[in-house]
Amino acid sequence: MITIEKSERLKNLPPYLFKEIDRQKEEVRKRGVDIISLGVGDPDMPTPPHIIKALQKAATDPENHKYPSYSGMDDFNRAVARWYGKRFNVKLDPGSEVVTLIGSKEGIAHIPLAFINPGDLALMTSPGYPVYNTGVQFAGGVSYFMDLKKENDFLPDLGAVPADIAKKAKLMFINYPNNPTAAVATGEFFKEVVRFAEKNNIIVCHDAAYTEMAFDGYKPVSFLETEGAGEVGIEFHSLSKTYNMTGWRLGFAVGRKEVIHSLGQIKSNIDSGAFQAVQVAGIAALDGDQACVDDINREYTGRRNILVDGLIALGLSVQKPRATFYVWVETPRGYTSAQFTSHLLSKAGIVVTPGNGFGAAGEGYIRMALTVGQERMKEVIERMRATGF
Ligand SMILES: *Cc1c(COP(=O)(O)O)cnc(C)c1O
Repeated sequence: MITIEKSERLKNLPPYLFKEIDRQKEEVRKRGVDIISLGVGDPDMPTPPHIIKALQKAATDPENHKYPSYSGMDDFNRAVARWYGKRFNVKLDPGSEVVTLIGSKEGIAHIPLAFINPGDLALMTSPGYPVYNTGVQFAGGVSYFMDLKKENDFLPDLGAVPADIAKKAKLMFINYPNNPTAAVATGEFFKEVVRFAEKNNIIVCHDAAYTEMAFDGYKPVSFLETEGAGEVGIEFHSLSKTYNMTGWRLGFAVGRKEVIHSLGQIKSNIDSGAFQAVQVAGIAALDGDQACVDDINREYTGRRNILVDGLIALGLSVQKPRATFYVWVETPRGYTSAQFTSHLLSKAGIVVTPGNGFGAAGEGYIRMALTVGQERMKEVIERMRATGF
């Protein structure tokens, strides 16, 4: 037997906050409770059929059985550029300003390796998608958290970042429409980000995973629509949430070409790109009729209305999200995030995510995902009412 000694980077990972919830979930399941899960941000609806058909056809072509290009098929990168032009009126050179990713999480986790030296600083928000922090830590960097507060509409206050921290920072991660708060960014905020990045020489990584998941006629903007944004940063995008394709692993990054090139260099040393048949299906998704996206969003709108109207009727404090499939709910007086999460699980069989799992500033909130149908969503409200909320 040899002794197994983990690396410092694994030992230093932040504690896994969902361990206690996982244990409680198992216990409730064993009691035979019919659990309703609003915990994980994974769409419950299937991938639209025309995308599946494109995969089926492409999978039979031996050309697609070979190693793909690590930076993506030219055809896929061109489809990405076309889609950006159509959707955001942003012009991209598919040869130098687009890189295909094996899901955007892959690119987000890898990009710090391209720019962060041990001890270098990266700015990110709390709460936030946990991969920003772990990616920076794996590269030996140090994360500085900008708190997202209700009074600032869950946008970071860039003016509150100490000048020496801002000067030292090399990277900044932001994400709008936002997971977990469901907040959206204005063009004005993105302008402020560009000015801040120019002043402090920071590479901006905008995670745009939710720009297509929006309701009530609202169309989120791309960071790259902002003047000067294409010089200071890149945008991560994903087919996962837009087309119910989380399992397919396909995303992309676009923007400043030196940044895209450096990310590609890291990737070429680690992976060999996404399965080409999946990329062909991705082209079908981006180039195809976007009516499927409207259909998906219509369903989420119905679920959102049932959940949010119900929560408000129960006296909880919550805003109706204009984008993302998350609802960010303040915990009732006297409950921490963990206590309210436990209460909902043990008394109502409802799984939610405690806000502090996304960072310390998420304390006092829970996140509920719109991942069950409308009848089931009504049941969520009925069960909560029965437990006294
Ligand atoms: C779901 C999600 C992603 C990434 O998903 P992939 O499936 O890896 O493309 C990225 N950022 C945020 C904030 C997400 O919620």
